[in-house]
Amino acid sequence: MAWDRVERRIRVPAHLDALEPEPSPDPARPIRVLLVEDDSIDAHLAVRALRRAGDTEVAVVGTLREALQALEDGGYDVVVADMHLPDSTGFNTVETLDRAARTIPILMVSGGGDENAALENVRRGAQDFLLKGEMDSGLLTRALRYAIERKRSQTKLQYMALRDGVTGLFNRFGFRTALAGAIEAREHAQGCVGVLYLDLDRFKAINDSLGHDAGDELLRIVAHRLSVTVRDNDVVARIGGDEFAIVVPELSSTAELRLIGQRLLNAFVEPIQLSGVEVRVTGSVGGSHFPACGTTVDELVTAADRAMYRAKSTGRNRCYCALGRAAMASLPQSRARELHFALQEDQFALVYQPQVDGKTGRIVGYEALIRWDHPTLGRVAPNDFVPMLEETGLIRSVGAWVLRTAVEFLVQMRERTGEWRRMAVNVSASQLDDGTLIEEVTAVLDELQVPPSCVELEFTEAAVMRDVPRTAQVLDRLRNLGVRIALDDFGTGYSSLSHLRRFQVDTLKIDKSFVQDTKDHALVGGIISLGLALGLTVVGEGVETPAQRDFLVDRGCEVLQGFLLGRPADPETYLLD
Ligand code: C2E
Ligand code: MG
Ligand code: MG
Repeated sequence: MAWDRVERRIRVPAHLDALEPEPSPDPARPIRVLLVEDDSIDAHLAVRALRRAGDTEVAVVGTLREALQALEDGGYDVVVADMHLPDSTGFNTVETLDRAARTIPILMVSGGGDENAALENVRRGAQDFLLKGEMDSGLLTRALRYAIERKRSQTKLQYMALRDGVTGLFNRFGFRTALAGAIEAREHAQGCVGVLYLDLDRFKAINDSLGHDAGDELLRIVAHRLSVTVRDNDVVARIGGDEFAIVVPELSSTAELRLIGQRLLNAFVEPIQLSGVEVRVTGSVGGSHFPACGTTVDELVTAADRAMYRAKSTGRNRCYCALGRAAMASLPQSRARELHFALQEDQFALVYQPQVDGKTGRIVGYEALIRWDHPTLGRVAPNDFVPMLEETGLIRSVGAWVLRTAVEFLVQMRERTGEWRRMAVNVSASQLDDGTLIEEVTAVLDELQVPPSCVELEFTEAAVMRDVPRTAQVLDRLRNLGVRIALDDFGTGYSSLSHLRRFQVDTLKIDKSFVQDTKDHALVGGIISLGLALGLTVVGEGVETPAQRDFLVDRGCEVLQGFLLGRPADPETYLLD
């Protein structure tokens, strides 16, 4: 993305404008009044008083329900409402109206009443309280004007109390308010809420060397990048000097939280221009989610903060998401122990999914996919245990086993078919961090005497983006061995075609979510053309229907993978075939 063009225009991120106070009504234009009154005589008198009160336009409705509808339709400067309506009486009227009217002032009226009722109405959201008998025009004009101005300054104060003055984002208080709201909404509906903490690495150094104005500018740029990276209903806040926090009110899984965390980090890949100087910033991200990591604002915040420190201490520019309490509780004793023994006990298995030439339908290779044959749970899918392998560091030994087993299978298939096909093996980010990957690959190629170009290592975008310079180095060394590199799930990370230039890759695997969504056709077509133009092999994943296959082949996608062409299957299926 051409950040610098956008950044010159930064003001307050657009999606936060919704809570800004309404501008004062133009004095030249009539005040638009919504009158909520069911008694026709009272309504008539009130309309007359309002008309006499000055330049007003009055719309009359007779019930609370109609009033709520009118407020939703919009276009009013002030609401004047009778306390007692056919569908609402007492303080419920003012409370319900106040919630719906948001930034529009409310004037309550009643046929009778005392000071206490008046005060209570004001406490519950009204700007003023009038008796019907008091509605003479002079008093009414003042009451309307004052109510509008009072509400405006009240809204402005509320707005400022929730905002950070430098970036225009929510401040710590606003963040906590938004998080509390998201938790409450989730308590009534199913689903998770995510919290991400982001701390800029080395912000202080920039602030000290370039000055505070440049520091503020940097914070505004960061605020903007974060705001455009998250989805519309996610809330970005600045909660401290160089600390940002994001509330994700609708989250489907921890995997999604990790993905969003990674996207936030990717927002820093492009350097930032600060008064002519190019600076590079990175951040550390920690995540937690409701209800698994906690059910209150404090618990979630503490878990996210700890996770962020953990990310920082393991080398910065990373994202770490806290495990749920249930996982934490069972991880040390049971599941992690079980996983520990799973390798020795031979409980892991690989299944192989064919990759097929789109034009001829011939099998050109396989992707190895791990399964855990748990003694009581049965066959467990990788998404349910690979994160735990990564978490515990076991992924290194399991990853080495996957590589060797998959390449052994390739040798067996060569013996059966007489030709070398290709074997794609998934590699985790933590295997990239570990120096031994290159040695392992070298050893397997040597011992099993396999042409290196038949082995393709798949990395997800998120994995390669964790530490760009280091990854680029490891990938280069792997390619020097002659093995192929694939970018997996392409399009789901912060996909950045510019990364294709940074990393030397051979294959792009278009994620199944794109292949399967017909709305993304233009995008898929674009990715294929671009991949081909860069001389890459493009693999379409998750092909389930002939229409998806035909579309991909039509656009020049050479290799297809998906249930239509073959499900992941045990090695015996191929060997006995
Ligand atoms: P992936 O590398 O993107 O693998 C493709 C996933 O899509 C596989 O899920 C496969 O079964 C599924 N798939 C293939 N064709 C279709 C289709 O037509 N429709 C649908 N709906 N799904 C299809 P699986 O086996 O559950 O693996 C999930 C992920 O787990 C993999 O995604 C990969 O990221 C990870 N994984 C699998 N094996 C390993 C491993 O040995 N090491 C590591 N680090 N990760 C692994
Ligand atoms: Mg894969
Ligand atoms: Mg994939």
